[in-house]
Amino acid sequence: MRKLALHWQILIGLVLAVIYGLIFPGHVEYVGWMGDLFLRALKMMIVPLILTSIISGVANIGSAKSLGRLGSKTFLYYVVTSTFAILAGLFFVNLIQPGVGADLGLAKMVEGVGTEGKSFKDVLYNIIPTNIFEAFSSQKMLSIIFFSIMFGYFITKIENKHKSFLTDLFNSGFEVVMKITLFIIKFTPLGIFGLVAVKVAENSSLEVAGALLKYFGTVLLSLAFHAFVTLPLILKFVGKASPVKHLRAVSIPLFTAFSTSSSSATLPLTMEAVEDKSGVSNKITSFTLPLGATVNMDGTALYECVAAMFIAQAYGIELTFVQQTIIVITALLASIGAAGIPMAGLFMISIILTAIGLPLEGVGLILAVDRPLDMCRTAINVWSDSCGAVVIAKSEGEQTLV
Ligand code: ASP
Repeated sequence: MRKLALHWQILIGLVLAVIYGLIFPGHVEYVGWMGDLFLRALKMMIVPLILTSIISGVANIGSAKSLGRLGSKTFLYYVVTSTFAILAGLFFVNLIQPGVGADLGLAKMVEGVGTEGKSFKDVLYNIIPTNIFEAFSSQKMLSIIFFSIMFGYFITKIENKHKSFLTDLFNSGFEVVMKITLFIIKFTPLGIFGLVAVKVAENSSLEVAGALLKYFGTVLLSLAFHAFVTLPLILKFVGKASPVKHLRAVSIPLFTAFSTSSSSATLPLTMEAVEDKSGVSNKITSFTLPLGATVNMDGTALYECVAAMFIAQAYGIELTFVQQTIIVITALLASIGAAGIPMAGLFMISIILTAIGLPLEGVGLILAVDRPLDMCRTAINVWSDSCGAVVIAKSEGEQTLV
């Protein structure tokens, strides 16, 4: 018998959870432990995930940058477009406020938020740990991220022999961490069942559904803005290329990204389309696209930001300017760190939530609608990679077909 795809299992888990929560509101303790175990497993992966993903991500970008002008341009394109994406998400989530007012009964669960009321100075001080092991054990995200960036960056500055050993080591470490994460992901339907049944028993599920729908719409709207306004403008004015022609050229990889939810799995098709149909040289595609598939994720970055803001809103937490800035920066890093595989972005949210001191249980809230959003954000990730290849090719004086 063919195994039911994970997203269907999740959907079934969700429906069963709602039914269970409504029928047996007094007996959720029998199933709640599944959600707790799932969250514990998720928490277990946070530090290894940050360490390996950021160190290997930064080391890979760093060695690309040392490839000279092309590397620096690519790097600049990634950071600028991802930041634009995040800002679009931040704008729409503040405008629409999908989580505000939805009394999900969550507000009472949070007492003081980690960085609440902290000034920039406090945050800065916290970034530099006095003892990195203490930072690991108390899950001080910003410190761990800072240390990982430094470590990754300086890997690129050491003797070749050590550099390639350490880069391989952290790349391999990341592979293992992702394998474990994928194993945990298999239990998502059970985790969802436990988490959602408890939530449904606590409050009216209709309100949750309404807020989720608004959240869903906010992510889609922001993604659409980035894909159809920001990136085409960059393509047109920086790359002097035709966005419509290029969109047509890469339609097959975009649909593939949409249906597989994986930038990495789409990579061969992206390379083929950008080379043959958009006319970018192999020299540029073979450098920018593989790197972009794992490092440049505009859709994921945007999604991270909107999701974290939504969870904060649902918990009734007003985030300060400092905290929103932390979200922007961590969302950027999380997108760089996320692998180009299905659901990778969802797990990266745990990093952002922990960085601003929001409860990880919030992930349970957005799990339900993650798959369709994953499909959309992956398509935007690939769209941005392909636009980047064209912009960089043009800036190198290439004559492309778009
Ligand atoms: N699925 C996305 C990708 O492969 C990553 C994510 O989960 O956001 O690009």
